[in-house]
Amino acid sequence: MIEKVFAFILGSCVGSFLNVCIWRLPQNISIIKPRSYCPHCNAMIGWYHNIPLLSYWWLKRRCANCGQPIALGYFLVELVTAGLFLVLYIKFGFTAYFFKFAFFFCMLILMSCIDVRYHAVPEILPLLGIGIGVCWSFGETYFWFRQGGPTVLPGDLPFILAFRGLIFGLGFTYLFKLCADLGLRCYLHWRKLDSIEGETESLGLGDVDLMGMIGVFIGIKLSFIAFFAAPVFALLYVLFALFFKRSHLVPYIPYLSVAAFFAFLWGNRILMYFNL
Ligand SMILES: [Zn+2]
Repeated sequence: MIEKVFAFILGSCVGSFLNVCIWRLPQNISIIKPRSYCPHCNAMIGWYHNIPLLSYWWLKRRCANCGQPIALGYFLVELVTAGLFLVLYIKFGFTAYFFKFAFFFCMLILMSCIDVRYHAVPEILPLLGIGIGVCWSFGETYFWFRQGGPTVLPGDLPFILAFRGLIFGLGFTYLFKLCADLGLRCYLHWRKLDSIEGETESLGLGDVDLMGMIGVFIGIKLSFIAFFAAPVFALLYVLFALFFKRSHLVPYIPYLSVAAFFAFLWGNRILMYFNL
């Protein structure tokens, strides 16, 4: 029990750090210095006003200095990250896999929130994720051999699986993008339109890189499930948005991230059900 609480608290602290990254990375501000400050009045936030999850309620959702409201997003990022760490702890304990997937899903939370806020993600982020994922898979393979792990087919070694996932994620998504763009061009030509709500592309190249990163971490089969689950989640949101009359032009990365988490948790069961 105490370890679960620890995992939850650790997650909320990491979530607090992600909030700093979400706010500062797209503006090219250092994520280390200066310390946390209020975006309205620029006052430094003391550590006792910066306790993850709790301060938000304790300060009655307002800056202690200027009284401007603190966005609910800060609290949600901390809560989601804390929940994520708890789920990963229950699944893996504090093992290497815990840290591997904590990194992976934190990157997805980071990119989703930046996408929601700025409608564009720094190109470096998915590439950084791919780089670290590939290095990690080499490390995993090294320890596999050192511990004299059970013999596997060469194709099932961690770094081969990671590379296969990468090539599939990039290649398949790019092919899909080409076909969908062609379809979209034909549609626009046929209806004599320039764009649909300003969009002329089906998927951005950033989405292709992101699928590459998802492939590195969860492999071919699960990223395939994630790719096709994402539009279902997007559709659910569009229905919700139509019902509550919100804007339904929404960035795609959050859906891909939720779909990746869904595939990570239940993908293998789906594959077993269909005997794949
Ligand atoms: Zn303030």
